[in-house]
Amino acid sequence: ALTAGIVGLPNVGKSTLFNAITQAGAESANYPFCTIDPNVGIVEVPDSRLGKLTELVKPKKTIPTAFEFTDIAGIVKGASKGEGLGNQFLSHIRQVDAICHVVRCFQDENITHVSGTVDPISDIETINLELILADLESVTKRLQRVEKMARQKDKEAIAEFDVLAKIKDALEDEKPARSVEFADEQMKVVKGLHLLTSKPILYVANVGEDELLEAESNPNVQKVREFAANENAEVIVISAKVESEIAELDGEEKEMFLEELGIEESGLDQLVRATYQLLGLATYFTAGEQEVRAWTFKKGIKAPQAAGIIHSDFERGFIRAETVSYEDLVGTGSMAAAKEKGKVRLEGKDYLVKDGDVIHFRFNV
Ligand code: GDP
Repeated sequence: ALTAGIVGLPNVGKSTLFNAITQAGAESANYPFCTIDPNVGIVEVPDSRLGKLTELVKPKKTIPTAFEFTDIAGIVKGASKGEGLGNQFLSHIRQVDAICHVVRCFQDENITHVSGTVDPISDIETINLELILADLESVTKRLQRVEKMARQKDKEAIAEFDVLAKIKDALEDEKPARSVEFADEQMKVVKGLHLLTSKPILYVANVGEDELLEAESNPNVQKVREFAANENAEVIVISAKVESEIAELDGEEKEMFLEELGIEESGLDQLVRATYQLLGLATYFTAGEQEVRAWTFKKGIKAPQAAGIIHSDFERGFIRAETVSYEDLVGTGSMAAAKEKGKVRLEGKDYLVKDGDVIHFRFNV
């Protein structure tokens, strides 16, 4: 399963946020394929379509889809030189598919800041620089090897050489690999390099609990927004402290508390949805009398692979995917009505599953 790593300097609110994630915690019995690890938190993906489908189908049970956040502790200046827990930190980032970078925007004299003052841009740059230096080292090594092969007119090596050289230039300018534009076929080479700075990233601006409503006028938040806009990255504003309080509530209590705070959606829910997008994930549904359920898939997969997410037997014995879009199902009012109106398609093994598809898989056992 894909996972997003939570990173940030010490004392910015990572643990507080991560605790909120595990508190809000998805019922792990529903997700046997998720990782069991104290550093991994499973979150349910908020999706209003699931509520609508439940009203329509009236199943015994409704199960949202989920994905994982990994808490990555231990960044220190000099990580790329293997100082402190540096190497471990970098190898943990290597294993995640996207990065949520928590930045301190709250002021609190009682909580020391590692570099003395609250300065979100300097914080961002400190971590980014470590990642850039680590990448620069691997790119330089790889470049030396590929250069020899390129001189012998090896076509693949020449292609890789060009990609590496471009990335190296960017890294030397202290820019991340993801800032370099490549053609599609070059992107394959880039993916194969597994660089830290080519992972998608978003920034989490952690503001004080009393600043949540006026967060946009917080100069630190403004700075983070400006910085992120330059990178085409998204910013989610949260108050980790508030999130840890929200995480202890459920259902109605949670809604009442959000209303009191004057916000529509918790910061954590916003973060979950943004991260889901960032990872290139989407949702399809199964809707039967027993259970209405949302399933996470990586955009671009075909029907048999999507079936395999439910069970490997479904993939092996795949025959057809009886598919209706969420809009058509809700528009017609029931599966039977959708069938009558010709909205239910029988899709084969080459069908590219779309976000919002409601699918019934037919398979041989
Ligand atoms: P980490 O080192 O990044 O994991 O940071 P922690 O989550 O342990 O937070 C460091 C300190 O900052 C703790 O004492 C938190 O209670 C505090 N903290 C975190 N978020 C907020 C916030 O939104 N407002 C305030 N005032 N304090 C916070």
